[in-house]
Amino acid sequence: MPVSASRSHDFSAGHRVHGHEGKCQHLHGHNYRVHFEVVPIDGALDGVGRVMDFGAIKVLCNFLEREWDHRLLIWVNDPWLPVLQQIDPQGVVMVPFNPTAERMAMFLVDNAGPVLLAGTGCRLAKVIIEETRKCSASFSL
Ligand SMILES: [Zn+2]
Repeated sequence: MPVSASRSHDFSAGHRVHGHEGKCQHLHGHNYRVHFEVVPIDGALDGVGRVMDFGAIKVLCNFLEREWDHRLLIWVNDPWLPVLQQIDPQGVVMVPFNPTAERMAMFLVDNAGPVLLAGTGCRLAKVIIEETRKCSASFSL
C-alpha cells in the first residue's frame, strides 16, 4: 500500500435520486462528510517528508464549498431539472450523474481531482462519501 495523506470535509446539500424505489426519490438533503486520500504520483515523499501539505489538500475541500455546499444536486437527465432551475436557478447544480454517494465519489476522483491537483505531483486516489453516519460509499483508482 503506497503512502497517502487524507483530509476530510463536511458540507450540506440537497439531492434526489432519480429512479430510486423508495424515499430517496424525493427532494431531501444530507450533512455529507467527504474523505479525500491523496498519493504522490511518483510514490515518494517530498523533501520535508510529506505526500503534500495538509493545507494544500484543502483545494479539494474548497471545491465542495464553492460548488456543492448548500446547493441542490440534480442530474442533468432528471425530468424535474427544468422546474427546479426555475424555482432556484442559483441553488440548483446540474451534475452529469444521478447524485448517489457512489457517483459523487466517482466524479470527484475522475473529474475534480485531476483538475484541482494538476501540477502538485499528487493525485486523488480515493474518495469516501458518508451520506449519514452509518452509510458511505467509496471509489478509488
Ligand atoms: Zn439522499
